Amino acid sequence: MRKLTILCDADDTIQELTVHWISELNRKYNRNVKKEDVTSWDITRVYPGLNEDEIFAPLYKNEFWSKTTAVDGSGYFLEKLARDGHKILIVTASNAETFEAKKKKLIEMFPFIKPEQIIRENNKQKVAGDVLIDDGVHNLVGGKYAKILFNQPHNAEFEERGYGITRVYSWREIYEKICHMAA
Ligand SMILES: [Mg+2]
Repeated sequence: MRKLTILCDADDTIQELTVHWISELNRKYNRNVKKEDVTSWDITRVYPGLNEDEIFAPLYKNEFWSKTTAVDGSGYFLEKLARDGHKILIVTASNAETFEAKKKKLIEMFPFIKPEQIIRENNKQKVAGDVLIDDGVHNLVGGKYAKILFNQPHNAEFEERGYGITRVYSWREIYEKICHMAA
């Protein structure tokens, strides 16, 4: 079995973001947006009347990140991949102000991940690895790595065929694809 370098996104791939973000905005501005309503990368479309500063404000608070939760199955299968001998790197586009808080929460949720395995990088195509698991289509298109798209309402309309991208719907499926890749 080949030992792979696995690049893995944080937000909405292993760390729930959208559900916590919209719950904060819904509470503050008395809205009723659901995760399924966020059908594009641009979340501002589902909050008409609010400006970008108001919409993005929660992400600049450390307490926000401390309340995030793990994506279903991500801890179990990510740890299994690490135990299989693969190298895991969490690659996240994050603002500098809250990166430490986000990292702290990631280590708390995934204690088998060391701080040096968490990298802040906006341009993931620059990071060397065998495979990237991500829910953001813009991170997968153009990368030299194998591409696994984690299905989310905001990427559901993207037509992945022609980009060499494989869409998956669960962490079990991610685990199986990577085992197949490494075999
Ligand atoms: Mg993401």
